[in-house]
Amino acid sequence: AGAGAGGGGTRFDLEKETELRFEVEAGEKVQLELLTGLAEVFGSELNRNKKYTFPPGSKIAVFTWQGCSVSLSGKTEVAYVSKDTPMLLYLNTHAALEQMRRQAERDNERGPRVMVVGPTDVGKSTVCRLLLSYAVRLGRRPTLVELDVGQSGVSVPGTMSALCIERPADVEEGYSVQAPLVYHFGSTTPGTNIKLYNKLTSCLAEVFSQRCEVNRKASVGGCIINTCGWVKGSGYQALVHCASAFEVDVVLVLDQERLYNELKRDLPHFVRVVLLPKSGGVVERSKDCRREARDDKIREYFYGFRGVSFYPHAFDVRFSDVRIYKIGAPSIPDSCLPLGMSQDDTQLKLVPVTPGRDLTHHVLSVSCADEGEEVAGGVRRGLLESPVCGFIVVTNVDTQGQVMTVLSPAPRPLPRHTLLIMDIRFIDLK
Ligand code: ATP
Repeated sequence: AGAGAGGGGTRFDLEKETELRFEVEAGEKVQLELLTGLAEVFGSELNRNKKYTFPPGSKIAVFTWQGCSVSLSGKTEVAYVSKDTPMLLYLNTHAALEQMRRQAERDNERGPRVMVVGPTDVGKSTVCRLLLSYAVRLGRRPTLVELDVGQSGVSVPGTMSALCIERPADVEEGYSVQAPLVYHFGSTTPGTNIKLYNKLTSCLAEVFSQRCEVNRKASVGGCIINTCGWVKGSGYQALVHCASAFEVDVVLVLDQERLYNELKRDLPHFVRVVLLPKSGGVVERSKDCRREARDDKIREYFYGFRGVSFYPHAFDVRFSDVRIYKIGAPSIPDSCLPLGMSQDDTQLKLVPVTPGRDLTHHVLSVSCADEGEEVAGGVRRGLLESPVCGFIVVTNVDTQGQVMTVLSPAPRPLPRHTLLIMDIRFIDLK
């Protein structure tokens, strides 16, 4: 690869099957342009002579199957070309999945259900995006199931969701998020409430299966499940649970032989467990970096992203007009539990929350739960398994006046009155 000035930027000539990796410096922006040949960013093709802008902190790989030249302008922390990528293995994986879809089409069966697992920072989300983009480029309609409650590619952190993919992810903005199915989990790690995590996994699996029954394209497209990087203890058990809830056919294990062997041992023999290397380009992210990414995701939800600005609303909500719940009572020793009650029950219990100053800055999910159900007393079961229709942030609590001020994407009134509290906070600096 040769670098030199071209069109105001640095020109890189890439040979076939190589990639240009770069990171955008803090406080800077970088523009990328494809000058000749063909190239893609995580499975989404670049258009020639279009300028793509990446914000601070972006970590990008421009890969080419055929060879290309691109130009980069702006300040990058690093920018180098690598010939050593696992892309051919990833492409072969895609080809095998596509084979399964063809077979499903022929035999009137369902397409592959794939779970992508591995420790943190091995490129799980990137592999999911790649496989989804390749599938959709062939006209498939795969579903992304996002179980990574820390770094969700679909919704705000603390949620678990499913999204039908209809076009490749946008090079700059990622998935176009239209009508995802989102559930409230409430925290950024499954360990906070593993019972709830497993329950919501089952819920998503059930809804997905129902959809497959009525939608042939969705059934053939199958799903790609992105999971958390917590692969030990209960985290591992959650993966096994997910595999069984979704009845997965394929598990792609990134970078960890131990996990690969454990899953091979514990999953039924018809599940194909495949070990794949991670890309050398995947960048490790620090705790701070992850926290920032989570904050950005919430900010985007309220204020929009790049070209698209949203204008959120601030208004007062009377305590008496809403019901706020937290899911999961603090665990108590087994010996103190009422007769006939198990620890599971406490983790899935809805605890009414009386608004106080400590609610300030918390993110709340607005539940779609049918409010009639509540009157009927069905709320306890219905609420956990009801999807979420949006999120608000509490910006102020006036205990005297019995009102709280909230930041909301839509004007008042709230569409629903049942709110679930997250242990995630967002400080609105605007
Ligand atoms: P998590 O631990 O959050 O689950 P993950 O395993 O899903 O992480 P990714 O989010 O896929 O990892 O990747 C981590 C970061 O590395 C992302 O910012 C992504 O854009 C970047 N990245 C992935 N592959 C490459 C590559 N080949 N070159 C450069 N950057 C890359």
